[in-house]
Amino acid sequence: MIKRRYERMAQQRAYDAFIRAGVPIRKDEIDSIAIVDFGLDRFEIEGMHLFTLVNTTRYAAKALYHLPWQTEPEHWHPPIDENNPGKQETIRALWGICYFYLEGGTLDSRISGRIPSGQEDVYTARKEYVLHPGDQITIEPGAKHWFQGGPEGAVIYTYSSTAVDVLDGFTDVKVNRRTQYVEEEALD
Ligand code: ZN
Repeated sequence: MIKRRYERMAQQRAYDAFIRAGVPIRKDEIDSIAIVDFGLDRFEIEGMHLFTLVNTTRYAAKALYHLPWQTEPEHWHPPIDENNPGKQETIRALWGICYFYLEGGTLDSRISGRIPSGQEDVYTARKEYVLHPGDQITIEPGAKHWFQGGPEGAVIYTYSSTAVDVLDGFTDVKVNRRTQYVEEEALD
């Protein structure tokens, strides 16, 4: 659950990060930056700031900002229908370092240190790619992956075929891809 006041602060923070990274974004687009906590209620550990540039029935482009060590939970993109095998996605690093993990690989102490604590069971992809600005990686439909901002955070682009985020599969069954928002007054 994200408080509206926190949402506004996080949207401004993401806007500043996008500008710093050279992502052209207009001031009137700040409100469209989604603050996604995956229903896990610990946004700064598992969450993302998401700016959708375009998402049609055929393709999508998005910019993402992750805080230092903020992690996008492990997920995969399943088939959308019998003619569409699921989202194929290319991630391109723009600013900071993005630690990216694809299914395969083996657990070592360095990687286990990057998995949010207590979540080892739901972060199974262990093939590490360290993405610096200009590096990119393409993820095939169905392949499990997760990623994380480095010591200064990270800004990345993702280009893909159609994104239907609510269809994404998450290893952590507690994930709810629809962020719930709450007005401050409701908590006071
Ligand atoms: Zn993905």
